[in-house]
Amino acid sequence: MADTHDFSERLRNAAPSCDTFAPQPKPRPRIFDAREDQREADRQKRAVYAEVDARDQKRCQCCGRRGNPEALTTLGKIHRAHIRDASRGGALTAGNLVSLCAWCHSLVHAKQLWIVGTDANAGVTFEIHEAAVVEIFGVKQLPAHVHIVLPGAS
Ligand SMILES: [Zn+2]
Repeated sequence: MADTHDFSERLRNAAPSCDTFAPQPKPRPRIFDAREDQREADRQKRAVYAEVDARDQKRCQCCGRRGNPEALTTLGKIHRAHIRDASRGGALTAGNLVSLCAWCHSLVHAKQLWIVGTDANAGVTFEIHEAAVVEIFGVKQLPAHVHIVLPGAS
């Protein structure tokens, strides 16, 4: 029977193992998770943009102007415009994005040009305010997918 008064024996049994004091690996900083989430979001965005560019052939779907979606200047830039705004719950999907030149896109936000339809993959048409027609199309004939809206008609 063990002598319970043998303190050296009791101390040895109670002593923590060396492992307790071994340096533990630090937990991975959470900032890396945020960066990885951002990278994944960027990957998805690039994939959707590539889908839109392939479908629309980097042409404005309203006026037909050709452009470069990656252009750093306004001139010649093709935007992938949301049909339903992201702020209103519009998804980042090819169906919700349509290629528009900077001019047509600015008219959409100025409420002089409207995208008719909800799915760009199925095709959309446009309604343009009478006053904005010359600005975009000059004296050229309107394409069949663009219709004039008369002021005060609605
Ligand atoms: Zn355009």
